[in-house]
Amino acid sequence: MKLQVIGDPVLHSKSPLIHGAMLEALGLDIPYTAHVVRRGELSEYLFWARENGVTGFNATMPHKEDLLPLLDEVDPAARTAGAVNTVGLRDGRWMGFNTDGGGAVEALRDGLDIDPAGLTVTLLGAGGAAKAVALALSRAGAERVFVCNRTLSRAEVLCGQDPLGRLAPAAFDADTLSGLAAGSRLLVNCTSLGMEGCPSQFESVSFLDALPRDGAVFDLIYHPAKTELLAQAERRGLKTLNGLPMLVWQAVLALEHFLGRPLDRSAMAAVATNALRGKGI
Ligand code: NAP
Repeated sequence: MKLQVIGDPVLHSKSPLIHGAMLEALGLDIPYTAHVVRRGELSEYLFWARENGVTGFNATMPHKEDLLPLLDEVDPAARTAGAVNTVGLRDGRWMGFNTDGGGAVEALRDGLDIDPAGLTVTLLGAGGAAKAVALALSRAGAERVFVCNRTLSRAEVLCGQDPLGRLAPAAFDADTLSGLAAGSRLLVNCTSLGMEGCPSQFESVSFLDALPRDGAVFDLIYHPAKTELLAQAERRGLKTLNGLPMLVWQAVLALEHFLGRPLDRSAMAAVATNALRGKGI
């Protein structure tokens, strides 16, 4: 049995560190390595993996969407999201899952003590991460998730893919964001604004002033650990969470799929978090 993370680029991935630590804590001698697979080489990889004892893998850029038609089965959450980040071999069949959204919901529960059920959320962005998180919040029972994006048409398309009809598209201007934030207990940043290396920052974060006093801000970015958005939210006394717990929890859920059994999720998340901290992440 071997596990891998595939992508291009992939050698910077934290998955080998996180999964390696969890597997070791479980006393399992299963290697988990990073493997470069270029766009267009997925079919060859699936053949090679089967021949070489790979029983599960995580997928990152640029493969999350391209994997769907190549797998034997794709679970409903991954199919709705149109993206797969976890693949396991079960009875000779490649099964695809998406643990990104579920990881975000677990991170919210664990890190902010927030259950999305019944919640109104302002979510910024409509890219791949936004889609996984918005759909997972809907599945978890959020009453309304406003998907606010610079390119409104992308938000409209995303919201149209929610089978539960709980997502609503919205614009990204300051007035719209403030108006929506006033009625939301949670604001989630799924844009790349504030990320290390991203040339742009939020023009204004005045929408934070509109959040209720017991409001919280979840930024999917973890590099830097504290974005300007989170620093400003903290200054206003709001609860905050960065993207590292989501990275950890999506891995915990992926490992359950790889091993085909439930794990002590909190214990695994603690092991993974400690492994990252040990490397100064
Ligand atoms: P993506 O598909 O490229 O989407 C980027 C989003 O950011 C789009 O909604 C885009 O809006 C918006 N955006 C970019 N520049 C902007 C600007 N100047 N003004 C306003 N909006 C802007 O990227 P992604 O894969 O969804 O990732 C988004 C972020 O989530 C990244 O920072 C990534 O590191 C993070 N992430 C974290 C985790 C985790 O485990 N913590 C997992 C996945 C992703 P338009 O549609 O208008 O271009």
